[in-house]
Amino acid sequence: MPFRKFGLSPEILRAVQAMNYVNPTPIQDQAIPHVLEGEDLLGSAQTGTGKTAAFALPILHRLGAEERAARGRKPIRSLVLTPTRELAMQIAESFAAYGRHTGLRHALVYGGVSQRPQEEALRKGVDILVATPGRLLDLMGQRLIDLSAVEIFVLDEADRMLDMGFILDIRRIIEKLPVRRQTLMFSATLPPDIVRLADTILRAPVRVAVAPESAPAEAVEHLLYYVEKPGKVDLLKHLLAGEGIRNALVFTRTRHGADRVERFLKRAEIRAEVIHGDKSQGARERALAAFKKGTVRVLVATDIAARGLDIVELSHVINFDLPNEPEAYVHRIGRTGRAGLSGTAISFCSFEERPLLADIERLMQKHLTVVAEHPFASPARPGAPTPLGAERTQPRHRPYMIPVDATFLSPGRTGSVSAGGSSRLSRHAGEEARPTSGPGGRKSGHRDVLPPPRAFRR
Ligand code: AMP
Repeated sequence: MPFRKFGLSPEILRAVQAMNYVNPTPIQDQAIPHVLEGEDLLGSAQTGTGKTAAFALPILHRLGAEERAARGRKPIRSLVLTPTRELAMQIAESFAAYGRHTGLRHALVYGGVSQRPQEEALRKGVDILVATPGRLLDLMGQRLIDLSAVEIFVLDEADRMLDMGFILDIRRIIEKLPVRRQTLMFSATLPPDIVRLADTILRAPVRVAVAPESAPAEAVEHLLYYVEKPGKVDLLKHLLAGEGIRNALVFTRTRHGADRVERFLKRAEIRAEVIHGDKSQGARERALAAFKKGTVRVLVATDIAARGLDIVELSHVINFDLPNEPEAYVHRIGRTGRAGLSGTAISFCSFEERPLLADIERLMQKHLTVVAEHPFASPARPGAPTPLGAERTQPRHRPYMIPVDATFLSPGRTGSVSAGGSSRLSRHAGEEARPTSGPGGRKSGHRDVLPPPRAFRR
């Protein structure tokens, strides 16, 4: 068994074998030996790459190897901090599965639910604590959690933590950790503020980086529908009426938008549920379980709620709204095309969203494939193809609805907005648009062979 080469304990190997893992994933291959050595690590890898086992297996090994004579309450020896409840639950499940024969105990704390059962679990003593920042700080404030014996600290999805405004919480938590400790930090992307944070909390870290197991550009088909805002719901219903979509995770930008889409789908008798931050934990868990089981065909979600969801065999991701940040597109589509299966990402793009589309295409180094023939096609003429390789023109943080900018209103192109009847023209056909099907036409956009997306280059 290839996992043997790491020198993990027989108890852990037995659990890995029971999970039917045959080979370590690239992040596991790269990270496990260093974590076992006690080194700090900065890993750029996202959920879906086997990242959890990359830190959980060596942590279990290290803590198991030095099992303390447990008299009285066990101190917390490892803390895993992660941004969302769903991720925390998945990580805790992994510790439960990989650590089932080790005798090590773990507990899970996250907000939005009563703290009583969490208190109970903590009182019994735990070796490993998986937590979201808010509830952790609450419990620390109540002196129910003491982090002074932590030996290994994991900061998971660090970029998401910062996006969600957790930076001060993280700093307050880190202040309470021993200075002498091992720190592992994972982040899907490494923007400058993450690198700065890494500089302050890691000591001479080993850096590892991997692409998701199925790089999105290869395993996922990227389709693009030009549709204006009022037509989006009808287009969604139209697509779901076909047989092709077995199950779909639909992304909206706002919670309100997610609720609205769910209402419309239910009215059309399409089995749909919604998850976002306003939903109770119980409602989110039920919705997710129903979706995984297949009793619900469509799960409508916001980016934060859906981050890291592990849904095997998801046929479609639908971007009802394009994300503000192009990196979020990569995260979204990372939900489909997993474990060697193929998947489809469908993106709806309204006129106002075209600059966001350009950002996505530049990041992916790829043009999404335009589906021009559909009943709700935008009357606005498709824009010129995004020049790939060019730097982003928009500032990083900007409002969602962007004023139509020079990209689409350059001289000679101003008429394109109102030009009706052009919905069957390919945006990639240049100024002299030509039909996308029929004689001399093209069904869709480019399918160029291009380098991997920037985010995944080592
Ligand atoms: P993660 O990136 O940690 O969220 O893991 C994604 C999925 O990959 C989970 O369902 C894991 O159970 C699975 N997984 C992790 N490591 C392996 C492996 N070596 N072989 C097969 N599946 C794995």
